[in-house]
Amino acid sequence: MKNRYAVFGHPIKHSKSPLIHHAFAEQTGQTLSYEAQDVPAEQFETAVKDFFNQGGKGLNCTIPLKELAWQYADILSPRAQAAKAVNTLALQEDGMIFGDNTDGIGLVRDLTINHNIQLEDSRILILGAGGACRGIIRPLLDHKPQTLSIANRTASKAVTLAEEFSGLIAIKGCSFDELTDRQFDLIINATAASLSNDLPQLPSGLLADNGSCYDLAYANEPTPFVHWGKINNAIKSLDGLGMLVEQAAEAFFIWRGIRPETQPVIAMLRNAHAVT
Ligand code: NDP
Repeated sequence: MKNRYAVFGHPIKHSKSPLIHHAFAEQTGQTLSYEAQDVPAEQFETAVKDFFNQGGKGLNCTIPLKELAWQYADILSPRAQAAKAVNTLALQEDGMIFGDNTDGIGLVRDLTINHNIQLEDSRILILGAGGACRGIIRPLLDHKPQTLSIANRTASKAVTLAEEFSGLIAIKGCSFDELTDRQFDLIINATAASLSNDLPQLPSGLLADNGSCYDLAYANEPTPFVHWGKINNAIKSLDGLGMLVEQAAEAFFIWRGIRPETQPVIAMLRNAHAVT
């Protein structure tokens, strides 16, 4: 029987994960199955238990299940502990369930390896203070930026997150209005605004010369934030498709011990216009 993997989420119909993991399996000569399963939050625990009891080896969890997966895991990686969210579950040899969060490392790999954007000593701004923001803070801090700021529509959430992660460098949390007269080398959009074709109101001059923009959301056409980056002279203005493939590659590595090539899979998704 093929080793069985899956992604749980709600909704899940448009998930690219089966396509990505099948491509990784083919590329690395691994025999496995990977399916997408619609699992509402209230059915999560039963569905995960059934999956592992029936021979499942590993799971990805997406919206709205990442926090439940974090609670479910028996053992957590340090980055999952910090994120308080899990997107990858893996059955261990002793039957324990290991939980990890590969979103942040996926973003960092796309920025630094695929796009050669330097994080060290840079001034980084994250827009949004939801689950995705929480997942990317620690991996970004590992690259020792000069400053990290978080701005959110509900400012109190940004302030709370900033306080939680402040340590070696001070992290500032604020509202979008408080961003005037400040400049950043990298602006990351981790709001869900792009999903409704929206964009937070941002002051002009926010992006420093030679600065870059990155939207965690992705689409066939440039997202509103990718477009904002372009008209604000970003040297690079990117969407989150690369992050999606990189976080999947890290999950594949956790499960199979092999790191797949991501570039051909990113290119395949772009060329096939498979992004929705
Ligand atoms: P959450 O629902 O946890 O957080 C949403 C955040 O967006 C909140 O900070 C919210 O502000 C803010 N927001 C929502 N709508 C607007 C708006 N119209 N204007 C300004 N701010 C807004 O979502 P996630 O953190 O889980 O996801 C955020 C984004 O990241 C999504 O687009 C998601 O698809 C993407 N993502 C991409 C990944 C990838 O692999 N490429 C991986 C994970 C996420 P408030 O607190 O005020 O409500």
